This record gives sequence, structure tokens and C-alpha cells, in this order.
Amino acid sequence: MSLEKLNKVLASTYENFPKGKFISLIVLRTTYSETIFRTEGSGEPMCSEFVQAGLTDETIISRLVMTKRKQVAPERRYGREFLRAHDLLYTKKVKEQGEEKEVICSLNTNKPCEMCVDCFLYGFAAGGGGAQKSRIWTEDAFSVLSANDVIGNRTINAIYENGTMRLKREEDTKASQALVPDGEYIKPGVHFLDVVTLKDVTADELRYIIGNILFTSRYGAVSSRVGRMENQILGVFGSITELPSSLELVQATYDVLGKPLEHPLNINQLITASKQVIANWKNKRGVSVQLSEEELGNLVTDVETNWSEAERDNFLKRLTQSYESFRQIAPEKSKGKGKGKGKNTLVEVEI
Ligand SMILES: [Zn+2]
Repeated sequence: MSLEKLNKVLASTYENFPKGKFISLIVLRTTYSETIFRTEGSGEPMCSEFVQAGLTDETIISRLVMTKRKQVAPERRYGREFLRAHDLLYTKKVKEQGEEKEVICSLNTNKPCEMCVDCFLYGFAAGGGGAQKSRIWTEDAFSVLSANDVIGNRTINAIYENGTMRLKREEDTKASQALVPDGEYIKPGVHFLDVVTLKDVTADELRYIIGNILFTSRYGAVSSRVGRMENQILGVFGSITELPSSLELVQATYDVLGKPLEHPLNINQLITASKQVIANWKNKRGVSVQLSEEELGNLVTDVETNWSEAERDNFLKRLTQSYESFRQIAPEKSKGKGKGKGKNTLVEVEI
């Protein structure tokens, strides 16, 4: 069984108290279409930060940033689609304008059900004291190349209302000269390296989280045309503390790749360089397990099997069932909650 090697860093059951078991996933995220990560709204510049290029290369460059929220929000939504489809989201009683209503667990609202897989795993913060810390620790992921190399910026010819760049009038043979800024975009073929840390998760929770990462395919400002990304897991570690950060990973990989680097990077060279970097982590910071290539392949197959049409219902129900004894206290807890209404704040806001 493919998860056996991870047994000592997997929790046997869900518990309320932390147990110091860390699993780190090394994730390569690659854009396959134009992609847009803006802070808020349109017109804002793409998220980027000035950082050192490598650990040894001390040049300062501006790197694109895929924020924590930009990673986790679509991945949570992906998993929740299936919880919803398999009827595994819970409802919660809330009072609205004096009336008691049952509302179904929902992101972006102030009404987490506090009972579904998503709430137990990714956490929630509701007013009135209810809170569950997320056991998925993410960091900003950084582009390997500098923002200047991987951002495109275009203006487009303004289009007349007839949908073309020419008016139909005979005398109007000239194309529209008006240029309209269409904004910045991240080019296809841009790579982000990322370390995702999982805290005290069970085998089924691990399958759920990896499924969300592997099967989510749209990020950032999403439309049918933009935001297509693919995630690959390059390594899995078990340890007693966190591994080096996403930034250290991208910097060390940059050093290994050497210069000069140009967009588009050869993805195989990038993967080889990243794997070379993480191979050194085996002897670091309390690492007790690193999956081999074969074990990693088996883990991904195991995840795909559990998420498959034939197994998914069983898998999601088994995972949902694993929290059953922790749900019993919920009605009691919700009693004292009426007062905080109106002041409730949801800490983990989705974008
Ligand atoms: Zn929920």
C-alpha cells in the first residue's frame, strides 16, 4: 500500500490537538494559458515582490507571486464541488431577521457549517468563538524567472460596435487606430515553485488535499479563456517541522539552473534542478521520510483511484464519517452564538 511509508507522519485519526506531524508537498505550478493574478480588481498591477535571485546569486529581481489565497481558494472550491455533489456539506441554523433558517455550508459567507470535510481540514473562523485552524499551511509561491520576463502587456485595437475593426461605410476603409490597453497577463509556460505543508493529517485527508491540488486547473482571474494551470507534485516529505520555504526552494533552483535564463524555461530541466535541490533536504530539519520516485508515482495513483468515479463516493463518505465523534458537540456550541451576529468576521476570505 502506497501510503505505508508515510505512516509515522500521518495521523491515525483526526484529533483536536496538534501532534507535530508534518507532511510537505513540493509542487510545481505551471501556466498553460494567459493567467492573471491581481491583488484586487482590474487595473491593479500583477502581484510581485523584489527578492534575491538565488541563494548564492545575490542579484535582486522582481518575482511574480502566487499568493496563498490564489492557491487555496480554487482548490477548496474544487473539493467542495464534490462534497456538494455527494451531499456531504452540512447545513447550519442561522437567525436572519428574526427568522431561523437552515443554510448550507458556503465559502465567502459568514456561515461555515463547521462539520464538513472542508471545514475540518481547511479551517474556518466564524464569529461567536467558533474557529478551526487550517491544517494546510501555504506560502506565497514565486516564479522562477523575473516578472519582467514572464509578464506580457498588450493593447488591442478598439473594435467598433459592429464587432470588427472597420465600419461598414464604403468611404471608411481605414482600420480603427484607437488602441485600448488590455492589461498585463502572465504568459503561458511560467513556472511557480511551492511548498505546501500539511499538519497532522490522516491518510484520507492527504488523498483529499492532493486530489484538490492535482485536479484544480483554473487559477486567478478565471474565465473560459484564461487561468489554465497544471500542478505537479515533485516530492513528498515527512518531518517534525517545516521544510525550507517556497522562496528558498525557488532561489536554490535558480542557482542550480545557472544563467542566463530565458522564458520559456525547459520544464524538464527545471524539474531536474528542483529535484536536485530537494534531494538535499533529506538530511535537513528533522526529515524522516522522503518518497522515492516510484513511491510518489504510487501515491498519485492511489489518489486518482480514490477520486475515481467508482471509488469517490466511498472515499468521501469515509472521510466525512471520520469526524463524526467531533460533530456531537456542535449543537451545544452553536447555542451561544446568536449574540455575535452582525459583528461576525470571516478571516479566511475567498477571492
Ligand atoms: Zn463546512
